Amino acid sequence: MSRRRRHEAEASGPKIFKTHDAAPETGIYRVVHVAHRLPHEVVILKDERFPRCGKCKDAVIFELVHAAPDLFKHLRPRVSELAILDEEEAAGS
Ligand SMILES: [Zn+2]
Repeated sequence: MSRRRRHEAEASGPKIFKTHDAAPETGIYRVVHVAHRLPHEVVILKDERFPRCGKCKDAVIFELVHAAPDLFKHLRPRVSELAILDEEEAAGS
């Protein structure tokens, strides 16, 4: 009865990317190596290129596990603190 809906779910399966592709969004990606079994997860920022493996080169695929744009926000405050330190030093007389 609900075969049509099932088919749609399969069509929108996991997103797969390859080395040198630009990441569509910041998030956690699972790295799957073809030449050796060493699955792990990495954080890739949006527009960054997916890195290649030192062992199997380009034979790596990346699967989006969890899009997490908030990860980027958490990193920003640290950078702005450093900028403030620079300003203090320059303004101090
Ligand atoms: Zn590898």
